Amino acid sequence: MYKKLFIPGPTDVDPRVLEKMATPMIGHRTKEATELQKSISEKMQKLMYTDDTILLSTSSGTGLMEGSIRSCTRKRAAVFSVGAFGNRWHQLATANNVPADIFKSEPGQPTTPEMVDEVLKTGKYDVVTVTHNETSSGVVNPCKEIGDVIRKYDDVLYLVDAVSSLGGDKVEVDAWGIDCCITSTQKCLALPPGLSLCSISDRALKAAEQVENRGYYLDILRLYKRVAKDFQYPSTPSLSHMFALDYQLDRIMEEGPENRFARHKKLADKVRAWALKHFGLFAAEGYRSNTVTCISTPPGFVFSEQLSKPMLERGYRLGGGYGDFKSTTFRIATMGELQEETLDEVIAAMNEILGLEA
Ligand SMILES: *Cc1c(COP(=O)(O)O)cnc(C)c1O
Repeated sequence: MYKKLFIPGPTDVDPRVLEKMATPMIGHRTKEATELQKSISEKMQKLMYTDDTILLSTSSGTGLMEGSIRSCTRKRAAVFSVGAFGNRWHQLATANNVPADIFKSEPGQPTTPEMVDEVLKTGKYDVVTVTHNETSSGVVNPCKEIGDVIRKYDDVLYLVDAVSSLGGDKVEVDAWGIDCCITSTQKCLALPPGLSLCSISDRALKAAEQVENRGYYLDILRLYKRVAKDFQYPSTPSLSHMFALDYQLDRIMEEGPENRFARHKKLADKVRAWALKHFGLFAAEGYRSNTVTCISTPPGFVFSEQLSKPMLERGYRLGGGYGDFKSTTFRIATMGELQEETLDEVIAAMNEILGLEA
């Protein structure tokens, strides 16, 4: 049976968008393919508030995280982590022989500009990675303020994982000084999984030229060169995703990015109010995500049995805890196409199952 998704990706896809995945194929070296990629890039630039080039990758977001840290790190990367996805940057670096150190915050706490400044003062690093919206903990990091710190250091590139926020919360790539901002299709963009995108700055491309071993498929410079040449992809891209994305970006522009962000915030406010009344919030105040709420549960609460299972029986899939916070939290996503009436249904169902007052 089909379940309504409240997990932080994949999110539910509008049937009209799903239909676009079934568009008849075109040649990937045709003028139509060029037009399609160009159209996606222009709309993504608007959604990312950037003039930088947009790169596509037929991989999920992790692919561009791997490609960017490997292609951009000349000396050493400083990885700032507030949870499982922050840790992933460090795993990717290590697996690719990229020198990197990891700097973790206390559970539920953000990466602070002061932490980044302290680390960069050592002069050891030329790349910083930050998770904008940590999906495992529901923490949103102060990426603008972190960008202001990084700007003081000439050679340092700023790579941001915005996989679970871009298109759902405002990420201003140029104003925040981000050199590479990564997202994938299955979260806030509300498309099927399988395609990822990033912005890439001229500084990052210049840095990549100095890196000898950038890999091949996920080599940022190689992806860039093909875009610069004719707005195509070096190998055969998922054209199906591209048809659907081009159409979905029109829908997002029609709603208006600011309206979309406000819709998510309103939904998250509702989830937060509910969670504070009956449970607790994992993320520190002031750093709570508008696209995914991580709810702390009391000792002895077994989410899978006490809440997840009965919710599934009613047709709703909630998110369990993730990584280190697996057994002490659960998550409710408020991203993509979600509307208030559907969230109200979910809250009512949870109240009924848990015997809580509305
Ligand atoms: C989902 C997610 C990822 C991984 O993205 P994939 O597209 O699944 O590879 C990375 N970072 C964050 C913050 C995520 O939410």
